[in-house]
Amino acid sequence: MYDIEKIYDAVSLDDAIRARVEDPEAVIIAGGSDVLIKIREGKLAGCRLIGIRAIKELEGISMDGDGCIHIRPLTTFSHITFHPLIREHLPVLGYAVDQVGGPQIRNIGTIGGNVCNGVTSADSASTLFAYNAVLELTGPDGKRTLPIAEFYTGPGHVGLGPAELLTDIMIAKKDYDGFGGHYIKYAQRNAMDIATLGCSAICRLNASKNTIEDLRLAFGVAGPIPMRCHKAEEAARGQLISPQLLEQIALTAESEVNPRTSWRASREFRLQLVRELSQRACKQAIIHAGGADL
Ligand SMILES: Cc1cc2nc3c(=O)[nH]c(=O)nc-3n(C[C@H](O)[C@H](O)[C@H](O)COP(=O)(O)OP(=O)(O)OC[C@H]3O[C@@H](n4cnc5c(N)ncnc54)[C@H](O)[C@@H]3O)c2cc1C
Repeated sequence: MYDIEKIYDAVSLDDAIRARVEDPEAVIIAGGSDVLIKIREGKLAGCRLIGIRAIKELEGISMDGDGCIHIRPLTTFSHITFHPLIREHLPVLGYAVDQVGGPQIRNIGTIGGNVCNGVTSADSASTLFAYNAVLELTGPDGKRTLPIAEFYTGPGHVGLGPAELLTDIMIAKKDYDGFGGHYIKYAQRNAMDIATLGCSAICRLNASKNTIEDLRLAFGVAGPIPMRCHKAEEAARGQLISPQLLEQIALTAESEVNPRTSWRASREFRLQLVRELSQRACKQAIIHAGGADL
């Protein structure tokens, strides 16, 4: 049995916002794969819940006339991985969320819950950072947008205002068109484990496919919140692809991250993972962008 005082199932976005305004302490529940664990652990025992699963307008994936891809927060990981728009335009994201937990979790867990729980190990986060995702937040005062890099404010903390919900995750065409990429999750086992380190790299090459035009390198668990390595990206821009360049990217990335020691791994091991995974992810990203295998 779960220790829940009451649950209200919202019927629309307006209804969910109204319920949250009336009861600011109530907790939004989507798939529940984080919230129910916290209730079971006692951290949210006795809470009041506002269910948003029935709100159809918060579900699904579409592309607008400008080529911007909209991923609504209630879309489950399984739907993301198998959606034709994701397979064609954002395959790295589909692959990254296919690393979450096991099939049951991927069928119930939503990308909105993954972003709003604010944890650095979230498997969607580094790839959403790499794609410069922009979040739409809706509250009693209307809608506003925020780049994902500004949404994470600290471990487990995000920039949701009072009674605000995440209502859309947007990736502009300029941020995915022509990019190839790869995500690597390092965990102690292949399934049902959260990342010891996650690394996402996407890049765009020149016409001859021998020079990096643009690189985005992002990590989870390399710091208290997901992060991009902007200096490493800068070091790669306009450079001829070579094993030496990959090494330089890796060393620059290592100088930017700040992982901690936890029971899963030491800081030193995570730094080694940053060096190793950034090279492996960039190498694969280059191949997916049309470049040669190094
Ligand atoms: C066995 C197990 C294995 C797991 N493995 C992984 C893993 O490998 N990788 C990984 O990244 N995660 C993993 N998770 C964590 C979890 O499945 C994900 O974080 C999932 O995305 C949470 O989504 P949800 O819909 O279940 O969120 P919920 O539990 O419903 O909500 C999570 C948080 O987000 C808030 N929230 C949800 N939707 C919104 C919204 N639209 N607007 C505002 N706030 C919102 C909730 O209030 C809550 O604070 C695992 C969990 C379990 C139980």
